[in-house]
Amino acid sequence: MMVILYEVHSGLYVNMTNRCPCACTFCLRQEKDEMDGSGSLWLDREPTLDEIKAEFEKFDMTKYKEVVFCGFGEPTERLYDMLEAAAFVKKKYDLPTRVNTNGLGDLINGVDTAPLYEGKIDTVSISLNTPDPQRYLEIVRPKFGEGSFEAMLKFAENVKNYVGKVVMTTVSGTISPAEETLCREICNKLGVTYRIRAFE
Ligand code: SF4
Repeated sequence: MMVILYEVHSGLYVNMTNRCPCACTFCLRQEKDEMDGSGSLWLDREPTLDEIKAEFEKFDMTKYKEVVFCGFGEPTERLYDMLEAAAFVKKKYDLPTRVNTNGLGDLINGVDTAPLYEGKIDTVSISLNTPDPQRYLEIVRPKFGEGSFEAMLKFAENVKNYVGKVVMTTVSGTISPAEETLCREICNKLGVTYRIRAFE
């Protein structure tokens, strides 16, 4: 059985793909194969859009406060399916939608993706990880190489014009307080929210 949807606290999470253009040194997929007792998030194959839509029928959707595109992979690897699934969720269940992304969707899809989010995604949460472009390459190891960090920042700045909330995150304890200050300055300049997440 494939785990397409799984619960985390009051959110229902969507696991659409295991593809990702990065190889983060801290990627959770290296140590475990599930989140909060979800069952393995490694997919035998990618579920189709129809299969994803049908999966929601199996859940009591009144229990959730939010639907989050996340999972064991980068959701923007399936950007168009993700956006269609998000539109479906909003229309059918009237729930807010969020995507947790590495912010590299423009490079993955080869277009300016920000305008496509309008009316479909309410919150975009992007892993900033570090304020330093060189350090970013070392720890996130994006296949696009140089320019990835800058592309992520540009996406964050663009997408804030199309969604209700853009959050950029770092993980508590992984960078110094001075680096956190730099991250806050980057976010202020971009006009997005900075959040330090708890270590999972
Ligand atoms: S972007 Fe996310 S899924 Fe991809 S390697 Fe990094 S932590 Fe893992």
